[in-house]
Amino acid sequence: MAVVPILTIPDKRLNMQCDKVTVFDDNLRQEVQNLIDTLSHAKNPEGAGLAAPQIGVMKRMVVVRDFYTEPGNRDKILSQDILLVNPKIISHSKELITDWEACLSIPDTFGLVDRYKKVKVKAQDIDGNEIKLNANGYLALVVQHELDHLDGILFTSKVRGETVNEEELDKILAQRK
Ligand code: ZN
Repeated sequence: MAVVPILTIPDKRLNMQCDKVTVFDDNLRQEVQNLIDTLSHAKNPEGAGLAAPQIGVMKRMVVVRDFYTEPGNRDKILSQDILLVNPKIISHSKELITDWEACLSIPDTFGLVDRYKKVKVKAQDIDGNEIKLNANGYLALVVQHELDHLDGILFTSKVRGETVNEEELDKILAQRK
């Protein structure tokens, strides 16, 4: 178990293409564990996903966190981490959703981004077995954000209008109520 530092802009590794994972060995397991531990440790803001290049591992893999409520208890929020190795979006809805995004590699920056409402992803697990994920709503947004990292794309390049800091975001959200 190891929490490792998350790279932040302007680290050049955040703008690079990552390599396909071809070897599924103990070294990969360690890197995946570091990714999961580091995501779990990120509290401010709470991380919903983390891509390997954000911890300096230039491989095509991400962890996304699926949040759901406990059956019979809507107040209790549980989460499950999903590892996607060599992920690819194989289909998506036409419909888009627009929501505020943030990134653990870009401190105190928020922006509105259009994403597909639903995506179907083909990937591999830690042993190289093929897996599929149907992501909808918030999870779909997170998946698209994290997959972009593998091609060196940061959400700030897709923001509609201007980015804002936390204080400005709070004001915008307060006005909506
Ligand atoms: Zn990010």
